[in-house]
Amino acid sequence: MEINITNKNDTEKRKRYLELMLDKLCVVLGPRPAGSENYNKSVKIIKNELKKCVRLVEIDRFIFDYWELKEKPGLICGTEELEVWPYYGSRSTPQRGINGKIKKIKTKEPVYGLYDTGLRKIQAYITISPFGRAVPRFAWESEFKKFPAVTIGRQDRKVLERAIARETNVNLNFKAETIKNKESYSVIGYLPGESKDEILILAHADTHSNTPGANDNTASLITMLMIACELSRTKHKYSITFAATGGEEVGHLGAAHYAETRKDRGDIDRIKISINFDSLTYGPNMIIYSKDKELSSLITKIYKELRLNGSIKVISENDTLDGEVFIKAGARGVYINTRGRDKTKLKLWHRPEDVPGSVDFELVENGFLVFTELIKQIEDRNMI
Ligand SMILES: [Zn+2]
Repeated sequence: MEINITNKNDTEKRKRYLELMLDKLCVVLGPRPAGSENYNKSVKIIKNELKKCVRLVEIDRFIFDYWELKEKPGLICGTEELEVWPYYGSRSTPQRGINGKIKKIKTKEPVYGLYDTGLRKIQAYITISPFGRAVPRFAWESEFKKFPAVTIGRQDRKVLERAIARETNVNLNFKAETIKNKESYSVIGYLPGESKDEILILAHADTHSNTPGANDNTASLITMLMIACELSRTKHKYSITFAATGGEEVGHLGAAHYAETRKDRGDIDRIKISINFDSLTYGPNMIIYSKDKELSSLITKIYKELRLNGSIKVISENDTLDGEVFIKAGARGVYINTRGRDKTKLKLWHRPEDVPGSVDFELVENGFLVFTELIKQIEDRNMI
């Protein structure tokens, strides 16, 4: 079966919409970490956009500990100063920093320790950025919360190795502050269908504090808004919920809270399918993380029938990001990420360079086409 591709006019409209929204969110506002004024402003914009096509829009509010860097962090290795980013939630160093020598703790995915020669203990952790220069990441590991922990760029790994070999003196210094009980929000749009059984589409709306997050995850969020508008034009068998979540970058907080809201309301069991968009524009190759064979093969079939310019791969793992709570509550789930322009795109991850000019409209359009078609086919096949 050939899939009907929407007409050229609509494509042009979506292209303009993408540019307009990327400008509003990434350029006019810029970085939008959960708990910041900029994020709160983006919530108003997203709410207005959703309201244009979905009648029921609500704000899901959550309270959390906000962590903020207070001054530029520094790692001095002998005479060289390296670029570093502390982990979100990590403990500050003492005022004058930590002095010591570098030791390698884990070899495979290298983790380095800063060994305090006076105290004769590891007093801080240093890891290597997965794709490019130094980036902020969330301190999932409890050790990275109890002790200062930072990431350095891949290009500086050799400097650390040399410091180990030469037993160079190193100083790490950063200051951060935690503000308890800050508020943040997710925006939820609800499109009622004939049945109360629900398909949930998620895209996180927050970024780290150092990046406008055009590819991670603003372009995917805008794709979700486009899909909401497209789907609102026709009647649906199933109800569809669109969640622009907050605090994904700092522990998937918004999604977790929204799941709690639904449990309190006693209707979380209506969510039968969870589809999580995170970074749909790193390239034309789609990566589907799902243990649900029927859902992932349906997406694969659609991707192929659309004859998109790339490949599709299924990894049989559950969503461990925003969708995890809904899968644990009984929903079938998929999490979608992309690859294919790795040399230019991956190094933008959590970096200030992740700006609107680096987003390819073609990849937004791929996501739009695949997932509007997916919803249609889930309904045609009575999959719920
Ligand atoms: Zn993301």
